Amino acid sequence: MAIRTIEEYKQSLRDGRRVYIRGEKVEDITTHRILGITCDTIGAGYELTASDDPVVRDLFVAPHPDTGEPINRFFVTPRTTEDLANRTKMIQRSIELTGGLPFGKDIGTDCLNAAFVVAGQMGRKDYQENALNFLEHLRKNDLHTCGAVTCVKGDRSKEPAQQKHSDYYLRVVDKSKDGIVVKGAKIHITSAPAANEIIVVPTRQMRENESEYAVSFAIPANTEGITFICRAGRGAWTEHEFHADRPVRELTEAIIVFDNVFVPWERVFMCGEWQFSMLLAYTFATFHRFTAISYKVPSVEVMAGCAVAMAKYNGLFKVGHIRDKLADIAAYVETLRALTNAAAQDPVMYGDIAVPNPLIANMAKLHFASKYHAFIALIQDISGGIVATTPDKKDWENPDIHDYLEHYLGGSATYSTLDRMKMIHETMRHVCSHESAFHEVTTVHAEGSMAAQKMMILAESPLDRYETMAKVAAGIRPRERVE
Ligand SMILES: Cc1cc2nc3c(=O)[nH]c(=O)nc-3n(C[C@H](O)[C@H](O)[C@H](O)COP(=O)(O)OP(=O)(O)OC[C@H]3O[C@@H](n4cnc5c(N)ncnc54)[C@H](O)[C@@H]3O)c2cc1C
Repeated sequence: MAIRTIEEYKQSLRDGRRVYIRGEKVEDITTHRILGITCDTIGAGYELTASDDPVVRDLFVAPHPDTGEPINRFFVTPRTTEDLANRTKMIQRSIELTGGLPFGKDIGTDCLNAAFVVAGQMGRKDYQENALNFLEHLRKNDLHTCGAVTCVKGDRSKEPAQQKHSDYYLRVVDKSKDGIVVKGAKIHITSAPAANEIIVVPTRQMRENESEYAVSFAIPANTEGITFICRAGRGAWTEHEFHADRPVRELTEAIIVFDNVFVPWERVFMCGEWQFSMLLAYTFATFHRFTAISYKVPSVEVMAGCAVAMAKYNGLFKVGHIRDKLADIAAYVETLRALTNAAAQDPVMYGDIAVPNPLIANMAKLHFASKYHAFIALIQDISGGIVATTPDKKDWENPDIHDYLEHYLGGSATYSTLDRMKMIHETMRHVCSHESAFHEVTTVHAEGSMAAQKMMILAESPLDRYETMAKVAAGIRPRERVE
């Protein structure tokens, strides 16, 4: 069963996992009003691997590197620029084809790919074997994973060992010949309640006195001691919205509490090797920011499209200052696309594993996050106040007032008022809604804060070279010493 069906996926979630949302325990998340949407959003990924279109199927299904059996392409460890480019293409096509982000395997494999790199650097054959066996388990059963990296962290100015509670960072509390016991909580974990397996990676660099915090492993979601406390998403479309003919697509994040959870040794990828915790967190962040920038491209394309369409519906497409704003919008999107492609084209090799270029991946993520709010402002500006004050679908359908709306909410005569209304509502979702506010915060924090990206940009940039060149220019150093 190397490729599952959506039904097999949903059935696998009815496994006694402990999930809470809005204060209530959920027995079957697949039928829950909010969590069911997350399952369907992720489940759409299984439709892609079962697609009748051979181009789509060949993108999402790959031959197993040893046996040739069909496996999900997310389970191909990247070894070439082509593998990385395929990853970008899969993420982007999955959004285009399903309308959502079937984040079923991306973050988990970002963690696992980083674990492979670090096991290799540690020279630990046992960890390498554990990671490989786990990957085979994912491939064989076509499992959905989540990546649990972010710890709750308590007082941010204090290191893990100095915190008021010693498990503000997830840590090992016991070890035996069979395995380890871990305690702590991971937070904001995307699609966690709908994952089959949780992959844990340290959230930061650990020091010598923090070796119990340097821990990485994979564990089934229904393991005793694990509890998910989920964010309440928006639920189904309401009758007031214009989108009712399309499925709602949304993921749910959760706090995952690990209350003395036993992890067998064969599922452990790091335990105490604090010297390598930085490399693991850093390599995960690089893989994950590459995933992030890949999925941001189609997301911002849709938003840019709203600006273009609203400019046309409002009759302003040829107006000078509007075109100036559209140029800024296009430059934002295309810079992101160019940097995303460049990160795949210029990887850093760790043994035979291709890691996306860390400098470029971080630049792309920083570009996306630092300019996102200005990008939103441009769309709001072009669209007009109607994206804040628009009447809704029920108003449109009420015969008492329909004709007023049809008459007075028209824009350019080239387009129908109904199409303008639909585009106003689509634009409102992206720039003036609870959903858009959620995405503004997500942009800043998900995949790490901007300070984290700047740290990595500084670490990867040739600052010495810049300085040398300036000193040569200033006559402080002779020109021939420039390398
Ligand atoms: C929608 C969403 C989905 C996410 N999905 C996942 C996921 O699937 N898996 C996962 O592991 N994580 C996930 N995250 C977590 C994300 O990586 C974190 O939000 C991010 O790393 C910031 O951490 P924080 O939220 O704890 O903020 P904080 O750490 O509280 O950061 C707040 C600010 O304080 C600064 N700061 C923090 N500590 C220090 C310090 N010691 N010194 C100086 N400045 C500091 C930060 O740079 C930032 O500016 C997700 C987040 C969101 C919003």
